[in-house]
Amino acid sequence: MDQLFAWRARRPVALCGLALASLTWVTALAAAPAPVPVPPKAPAKAAPVAVAPMTTPQAFCDAVAHRLPNVSKAMCMRAGLAPANARSAQGRPLYQRDVISANAHLRVLVIGGIHGDELSSTALVLNWINAAMETPSNIHWRFVPLMNPDGMLLPKPTRTNANGVDLNRNFPTPNWDREAPSYWNQRTRNDPRRYPGPKPLSEPESRWLHDEMERWKPNLIVSVHAPYGVLDFDGPTVAPQRLGRLYLDQVGIFPGSLGNYGGVHKKVPVVTIELPSALRTPQEAEIRQMWLDLLRWTAERLGAN
Ligand SMILES: [Zn+2]
Repeated sequence: MDQLFAWRARRPVALCGLALASLTWVTALAAAPAPVPVPPKAPAKAAPVAVAPMTTPQAFCDAVAHRLPNVSKAMCMRAGLAPANARSAQGRPLYQRDVISANAHLRVLVIGGIHGDELSSTALVLNWINAAMETPSNIHWRFVPLMNPDGMLLPKPTRTNANGVDLNRNFPTPNWDREAPSYWNQRTRNDPRRYPGPKPLSEPESRWLHDEMERWKPNLIVSVHAPYGVLDFDGPTVAPQRLGRLYLDQVGIFPGSLGNYGGVHKKVPVVTIELPSALRTPQEAEIRQMWLDLLRWTAERLGAN
């Protein structure tokens, strides 16, 4: 954490005009020694921390469930998670759950918590694992409820991973080397929450997701975020118009984002769900309706049934 503040403090100009100049940052700046020149795009390394090993699903649920809205440890355990043969920057295993319907001929990858401060996204994916077990379909589901455990398990969860990288800007979209740093610099004014990383796929979490797309070849990716309360879509088919109360609003293309990489570049449809709150889940009936709407659209557009 101290190193993160130091990283921010060494870039006072970059943070000018941003609302996120917090008291902690001001304090760090006031206490900082004379500025030390550093390369402009060096990533912010998180300070070493004692990491809960989370080597079993039970340990995962112990660490995560009590932080999440509307998730009990029993519900987390019912999700039947297993290690995904991948680790975060700080060495925490990523967990996944496959739910395979009889005659499954479509593969759908559902991702939560790629931004660690969007707690509701992980809660929704855990909820949907249980829904998938109860809903017949012709889909092989692969759920990854928490892509960024290092960010989510901090005392104050962060959007970025332990290296200070926004994983959803770290995918190898065409011209990443030119576009991602300049977008970060010019459009976000070097917002540390949106740092795209020193190079595409610099992070183990984004690397795993990229490799998983190559290995498993999902027909659809559903990526759950918060808190903008809309539905976004990238890909070669007709977009879903709504899921529950979330309506389609294609907000734009970002260098290095999963939607841009998967939907535009790799032609794998990417549904991006932006829940209305990062800290609260929708009501149970709404979660169910979103699930049913997703199933209906998948059947209509991808031939799932
Ligand atoms: Zn997000």
